[in-house]
Amino acid sequence: MAKKTERFSSAGRGNGLRALLEIKTGELIHSCEPYAFCIAKNSLKSTCQSCLSRGDGLLRCSQCKCTRYCSTQCQRQAWPEHKRECKCLKHLQPRVPTDSVRLAARIIFRLLSDPEPHPEESYPLAEHQSHLEDMSAEKRGGLTQLCSMLQLYLLQEVCDVSVLPGGLDLMGLLSRVTCNCFSISDGELQDIGVGLYPSMSLLNHDCQPNCVMVFVGKRLQLRAIRNIQPHEELTISYTDVLAPGQERQAHLQQQYHFLCQCQRCNREDSDSHMLAGDKTAWMIIRDALPHLEHLRTEHQWEELQKESQILLARHAHAVPDTNVYLLRLLDMAMDACISLDQYEAALEYGNRTLGPYRLHYAEPHPSWAVELFRVGKLQHYLGRLEEASNSFTQAYDVMKVTHGTEHPLFNEVSRKLTEVQAELRRT
Ligand SMILES: [Zn+2]
Ligand SMILES: [Zn+2]
Ligand SMILES: [Zn+2]
Repeated sequence: MAKKTERFSSAGRGNGLRALLEIKTGELIHSCEPYAFCIAKNSLKSTCQSCLSRGDGLLRCSQCKCTRYCSTQCQRQAWPEHKRECKCLKHLQPRVPTDSVRLAARIIFRLLSDPEPHPEESYPLAEHQSHLEDMSAEKRGGLTQLCSMLQLYLLQEVCDVSVLPGGLDLMGLLSRVTCNCFSISDGELQDIGVGLYPSMSLLNHDCQPNCVMVFVGKRLQLRAIRNIQPHEELTISYTDVLAPGQERQAHLQQQYHFLCQCQRCNREDSDSHMLAGDKTAWMIIRDALPHLEHLRTEHQWEELQKESQILLARHAHAVPDTNVYLLRLLDMAMDACISLDQYEAALEYGNRTLGPYRLHYAEPHPSWAVELFRVGKLQHYLGRLEEASNSFTQAYDVMKVTHGTEHPLFNEVSRKLTEVQAELRRT
């Protein structure tokens, strides 16, 4: 396969990645395994540390009692990567270090066993940006704490961490990890891990990017969501594209230390739909969201349903469904209803999200595809075959671009669509 991309110096943005030839919408640009990865702390119990499949009742590592596997085969496969970490985890029991500490430790183990950068690696870790000089005193303080934790964690396996291969020190390594790692998500787009994919760290941000990333297990796939010309820079969004400018800017500044100057950020009216409705009302919803997110993470479905319904009853008349905060609230109410087996109510909320999603996602986006699939499954379950067929068809079209026809989720949608169409023919 001809090389499709190259590293280049992007004006005002440092390193970047650009197309070498024309890339078509939906084309797979790059596919790679992580240099190192780890499962997110709150997904440890439910995720296989080798293939990243989800489930209850996974096998537990008898040594550290922390990592889980779906089969003995997966456990065997993961052992070389887990061996040294296992001793560290066992020693700290019952404490489990944060994701960035565990990921940094895995990077260190790999650096120590294999210190030379690979010749085909276009972006070695030592060249990654650390942004140490841009960090606030508070953030540096947080990083110093992570360093102490990392040292304590590594104690059993690595005595001297003052100088690492590539001239890195712990602080430099941790800051690079926090600025450059990617969240690994499952088919439902829930974050289940973090990974470092060095050549993908070259990708710069745009709030209306030309590429998206999806995962198959821990394998990252970069796909084009519109046609890209030779020498055009490839971009992804580091932040939720379904967020108003101010929120995106704040997140990018805080996490990645830059001010976004993209076209979307410079368009004056770009937030008009996202922040539609009565400001006082949507601000109440916005401010309630972190608490509701917490309820969702904790699986407190009854409480989540109660609180989201109260907010919707009070404010939905003053705020249209296109408002992003109301949209997030609808999604949460739908999640709660699904988990409580109240499918009719879940579908009512789900149906309300489809129009706004279509409006906000100017281009195919994985979240849009997953939402269509979720709503389609509810419609199918409730016997609304025409509607389900329509949703699955749309999900199929979006996913063909964002996930590609080889992706397991695409196969699932394709199977559901065939099933519904056969049922429709019989009626
Ligand atoms: Zn597995
Ligand atoms: Zn273990
Ligand atoms: Zn922007």
